Amino acid sequence: MFLMSYVPVIGLEIHARIKTRTKLFCRCANEAVPVEANRHVCPICMGFPGMLPLLNEEAVRLATRACLALGMTICPETKFDRKNYFYPDLPMGYQISQFDKPIGADGHLFIEQAGSAPRRIGIERLHMENDAGKLSHFDDGSHVDYNRAGAPLMEIVSMPEIFSVDDAKSYAEEMQLILRAVGSSDADMEKGMMRFDANISLRADSNAPFGTKVEIKNLNSFKALEKALAYEIDRQTRLLEKGETIVQETRGWDEGSGKTISQRSKEIAADYRYFPEPDLPPLSITQEHIDAERSKLPELPFAKRERYKTIFKLDGEVARLLVQQEDLAQYFEQVAERTGNPKAAATWVTSILLAELSNAKERLEDLRFPVEDLARLITLVSEDAVSLLSAKETFSIMYATGQKPDAIIAEKGFLQVSDDSALLALIDEVLAAFPLQRAEYAGGKTALLGFFVGQVMQRSKGSANPKKVGQLLLEKLS
Ligand SMILES: [Zn+2]
Repeated sequence: MFLMSYVPVIGLEIHARIKTRTKLFCRCANEAVPVEANRHVCPICMGFPGMLPLLNEEAVRLATRACLALGMTICPETKFDRKNYFYPDLPMGYQISQFDKPIGADGHLFIEQAGSAPRRIGIERLHMENDAGKLSHFDDGSHVDYNRAGAPLMEIVSMPEIFSVDDAKSYAEEMQLILRAVGSSDADMEKGMMRFDANISLRADSNAPFGTKVEIKNLNSFKALEKALAYEIDRQTRLLEKGETIVQETRGWDEGSGKTISQRSKEIAADYRYFPEPDLPPLSITQEHIDAERSKLPELPFAKRERYKTIFKLDGEVARLLVQQEDLAQYFEQVAERTGNPKAAATWVTSILLAELSNAKERLEDLRFPVEDLARLITLVSEDAVSLLSAKETFSIMYATGQKPDAIIAEKGFLQVSDDSALLALIDEVLAAFPLQRAEYAGGKTALLGFFVGQVMQRSKGSANPKKVGQLLLEKLS
């Protein structure tokens, strides 16, 4: 069957664990690494009668910083609300969240696809809330671990301004980069520190009104996000082609079957009966507090990529690769500064160094040589003291042993002779040895230049700098 193509409209809700030492309303540890179940619990996060929550100031600071990094307006008088529902992983019987006055609203971030201009995606809001515990199901019943119950979360809701699976992935990746860069969250998906809910609907073209949206809950990897959205686009397309209507519903992603599965339809949608949290006073965020957090913002990933492209003249893809990994970007800047040659530094770091690291399954902190040594090697190449090929071999040895580049080059005889007098002596030798070719050259067969260069290179046992040899030969033969 030929399927018509529809334009998807996607909105993402991202839950990210705020990087505090303790939970949002009590002093239990906020730990993402698995420990013995139910170790980090207390009467507050277990919702015992009479307990009183106490707001974690650090969580507010880090959420404020995330809002500022996302270009949001901070709500000066924010508050918390109870979101009521019953579930075994929610000991209080309600979640403390923010309903009508989220801490941040009206932000944006920029995404980039290779070869196209950056695109702005609007962000509706960012609010704080506490996490629930974790249920595990076994043959003999279900177990619940409350270590995560009460952990601080930021929920970040995008505008429905994402129109492809690739853009959805880029948005999620950019959010992870930003939250990490500002220190608000480690956003480590493998440790459950970041997860996604996605809204998706289809429409006939980009001017048509929005279609009926379906929500896919609890996607916990970039792969799952991509696969679930692609599956849902396909499923909804097929339904629309058959003239059927899309049911507004919540669906879950089943990794095993690679399908989304209906969980509940709108008719039985939960009514959370939000009301202001009586145990927490409204929260004022002063301008002083906002300024203090703004002053802690580092250069953001988007700005860094732009700087690499405009100031360092790096290719967009290379800039993206560097900025994706903060330690790699830092390392690159050190090499660029020491060599004064950002383009060469970027090439060495993103292709040659990354290849060695990935082969050896090592990380930057495992390097056995200081950054100065790589800078020295790059400088030797740009000064034509060694060929690129020899430099790459030198680097492999340097990488494996931590030996100094100059020592390796001397030992291997990699130094190119660029010294005029030494090269001129070799050139004279060659020209004397091939009088016939010299006459042919003089007669107009200039292609013989390559032959002479080759002869000189041979006599130098590969140590001559071919560029220099060519130049000197041209002068000599003219
Ligand atoms: Zn607690």
